[in-house]
Amino acid sequence: MNYTELAELLFPDVTATPADMEAKFPQRDLPEGAFVTRIGPSPTGFIHLGNLYNAIIGERLAHQSGGVFYLRIEDTDDKRRVDGAVETILNAMDYFGVHFDEGATADGDSGSYGPYRQSERKAIYHVFAKQLVQEGKAYPCFLTAEEVDAIRAQQTANKEDPGIYGKYAEKSRSLTIEQISANIAAGLPYVLRYKAAPTGKTICVEDAIRGKLEMPENGMDFVLLKSDGIPTYHFAHVIDDHLMRSTHVIRGEEWISSLPMHVELFKVFGWTQPVYCHTATLMKLDEGSKRKLSKRKDPELALAYYQQEGICREAVWEFLLTILNSNYEEWRIADPVSSYLDFPYSLGKMSHSGALVDLDKMRSIAKDVISRMTAQEVFDNWKEWCETYAPDQAALIAKYPERTLAALNIGRGVPKPRRDLETWKQACDFMAFYYDETFADIAADPMPEEADEATRKTFFQMYLDRYDHADDSAVWFDKVKAITAELGFAVKPKDYKKNPDQFKGSIVHITNMLRIALTGHANAPDIWEVSHVLGEDITRARLSKWA
Ligand code: GLU
Repeated sequence: MNYTELAELLFPDVTATPADMEAKFPQRDLPEGAFVTRIGPSPTGFIHLGNLYNAIIGERLAHQSGGVFYLRIEDTDDKRRVDGAVETILNAMDYFGVHFDEGATADGDSGSYGPYRQSERKAIYHVFAKQLVQEGKAYPCFLTAEEVDAIRAQQTANKEDPGIYGKYAEKSRSLTIEQISANIAAGLPYVLRYKAAPTGKTICVEDAIRGKLEMPENGMDFVLLKSDGIPTYHFAHVIDDHLMRSTHVIRGEEWISSLPMHVELFKVFGWTQPVYCHTATLMKLDEGSKRKLSKRKDPELALAYYQQEGICREAVWEFLLTILNSNYEEWRIADPVSSYLDFPYSLGKMSHSGALVDLDKMRSIAKDVISRMTAQEVFDNWKEWCETYAPDQAALIAKYPERTLAALNIGRGVPKPRRDLETWKQACDFMAFYYDETFADIAADPMPEEADEATRKTFFQMYLDRYDHADDSAVWFDKVKAITAELGFAVKPKDYKKNPDQFKGSIVHITNMLRIALTGHANAPDIWEVSHVLGEDITRARLSKWA
């Protein structure tokens, strides 16, 4: 067989050479030790936590080393492609503060190693496909779907490995150039297969997360180009990561089984293999046992979930960093103030057994993160989230900016800041009492039973009579204590505990009445501070309803 003739027959339009490609995408001029990493999501419209997990690793490695982190859209599967999916990816990554140095953008590309959408790289793949044909390392295969199915059935019956190899490849491998030419002229569809030449050896790959991976070498005539000329993941991965000069390939462990094909292609092209980093699958605890997160059962797998719930980006990052690097929590305890971006992330500290996604833990981290923010930071982040996800709330924030900021400032900036904000969505509920517009809709906690209706009325009347908005918090509290005693309630809760018969209740019940009247909740921030955030008019109006 004259392979040059075959290559011309299959790729008549390809005039560029591999050398042209090497020249067009030269080695990157980066400092020694700089990482070039990427994510390669498929635009299926569903972007998940695993995408962010891998993105964080790539982003950290690249940006900690003065390297490059880029976005490549792996859209070779036409059936799964969804309109607007690239925007969804960009929007999610932006929400989580993952920044690309180059790659696909909403309406094009940025960077000189593109195009960054695989669907636009067909001409590039064909240059290398042609090279392989020319070298006798790839061939067209005209097997129909039915024939492939029949082969699989036979292999299953014989308990053999599935796939096209050895004797199953003979029919296609032995076609003459005349037969191939006639088939093409007749319009028969074909795929381009790699011509495997197994020697029975094993391959050994040093995975940066898992250590040594030993596996049998590739023995399959796997598909390089599908019948529409679009590459498979395997072929595209090798060409793209070579030409885009990736130094590290961070991807899910589900790709380990196809590693022999990738190793083989790097070898036949004579290219340096990138360092592989196969990450652990995200798991959750379900009734005591670990299982994979499922798209169907677990809303928390979708990144959209975190956006919709308003779990702030720092919390998601910090949570993922705790499962990514075993020393993250220790670092955070020792240094509660620095940004998570100051943590020295390392591949060596990665775990390779399933990474456990624990939402309670993430929410608890979120409380810590928000409690460390200044009121202005909380204000800005919450407002930004509301503008997309809760426009009514955004309008209230815009209408009452000073009140909102003052409310957010309560219990903040002290050694043990309040931890009552957890997500931006929950902040809308938590903050509802600060606005008359939403206060009305709060299902208020019941007033304490220790004060019967008459006592309650008397209490609110006495409180309003003596209330002076100008009182400082100490004077104010003395007045509350005086009323408490006059009404027969214990000023010290422990006195009431000791002698419940001598009192109607304690100061706890008195202050609870105030909290419920002012906020709807028995559990609320400091009453004096809340009153001053609300202002005298609103405070009096809310209390008068009970007097
Ligand atoms: N498109 C592949 C995926 O979504 C990317 C794998 C890789 O990063 O190489 O799983």
